[in-house]
Amino acid sequence: MTTEYLSISYFMCFAGIGVGMLVREYGSLSNLDKFYFAFPGELLMRMLKLIILPLIISSMITGVAALDSSISGKIGLRAIIYYFCTTALAVILGIVLVVIFKPGASQRAEEIVRVGSTPEVTTVDTLLDLIRNMFPENLVQACFQQCSEMATFFLFNLQNKTQEYKVVGMYSDGINVLGLIIFCLVFGVVIGKMGEKGRVLVDFFNALNEATMRIVQIIMWYMPLGIMFLIAGKIIEVDDWEIFRKLGLYMATVLSGLAIHSTVILPLIYLIIVRKNPFRFAMGMAQALLTALMVSSSSATLPVTFRCAEEKNFVDKRITRFVLPVGATINMDGTALYEAVAAIFIAQLNDLELDIGQIITISVTATAASIGAAGVPQAGLVTMVIVLSAVGLPAEDVTLIIAVDWLLDRFRTMVNVLGDAFGAGVVEKLSKKELEQMDVTSEVNIVNPF
Ligand code: ASP
Repeated sequence: MTTEYLSISYFMCFAGIGVGMLVREYGSLSNLDKFYFAFPGELLMRMLKLIILPLIISSMITGVAALDSSISGKIGLRAIIYYFCTTALAVILGIVLVVIFKPGASQRAEEIVRVGSTPEVTTVDTLLDLIRNMFPENLVQACFQQCSEMATFFLFNLQNKTQEYKVVGMYSDGINVLGLIIFCLVFGVVIGKMGEKGRVLVDFFNALNEATMRIVQIIMWYMPLGIMFLIAGKIIEVDDWEIFRKLGLYMATVLSGLAIHSTVILPLIYLIIVRKNPFRFAMGMAQALLTALMVSSSSATLPVTFRCAEEKNFVDKRITRFVLPVGATINMDGTALYEAVAAIFIAQLNDLELDIGQIITISVTATAASIGAAGVPQAGLVTMVIVLSAVGLPAEDVTLIIAVDWLLDRFRTMVNVLGDAFGAGVVEKLSKKELEQMDVTSEVNIVNPF
């Protein structure tokens, strides 16, 4: 991924904004024209989603099979501890900011237009659904599963459009990602331990991984064009800009939290543990961050996250293959921060004073809800209903912030992706001794596909 490629991508992003504004101003497009206009962007999304399944399966299995099972256990534990701690820090930061700025205190709920309606959701149902999804009853079905009962619960009809939001627990556009990750983890450990007998399978998944990464490379050629149409299509589609003014302070609170988390907290942790320049590392992830901003999905960004982490930041492939897919599914610092801010903002709009017990409940449920959110657009908005219900806030008030969510989603997805990448860097550093001990070539020959 060259500097020229990056520059072209950024240029196309700004071109998308320009084209979107122009068409909006002078185009007078019908709904059907808008749909046609957004088509090249839709194609990019489809390509990225298409590659998620082979990518997760091949990278997880080869990643785990390449490691000794005791080592993969240690690496997994480190990744989960890192993910948990940074998510908790993000939630605390969000709470501190929303309590200081009080974005909801200056407004009343009635002043903000409610959009759509929200179904009832309980925390227990969601947690059970999360655990249920870890153990798919049918592997083939898990690859293109339709929404579960719980997910059906969440089918939204937003803004009275016929558009259905299948934003659900652990499902990423019909794929039960968490279930697949758990299966691939076990499968990888087993074939890694089988020695010669398992070799053919290990070789097969290595070849699949190489082929998948080559397809990613082809998609990357189309990406700048797709990005332009994605952003232009969105700008044309938005019909109420006034809402941004009304929710300005709330958006500013979320965005400053995301900015502090990604430019101070995460880099500081990286600097303390890895002792390398965190900003250079973040620059290396630039293409992945831009993709996250455009597509609002950590899962769809995963192919680019891999490329940036491995090619630009030279993170060991044995770590990235294992840590990044798990991170894209369960590590969502940006989502957790946003959920905590949004819940307290809604309490402020309703003139409700939250006690310390309720604030702690918000921190815990926001962390859990971010783990439960899939890496797809606006999944966090849906799991936020859990946070609201946990402290007795009206679940339907989530509709107060829906109108600006598509924009905030893009920024929190960027932070989610950055958090995963820093996580891979930190876990690599912490696992240096084990990685050095391993004979890289004896177990699995990890081929560089580029
Ligand atoms: N869109 C986010 C992601 O994919 C999830 C969310 O916060 O809605 O990471």
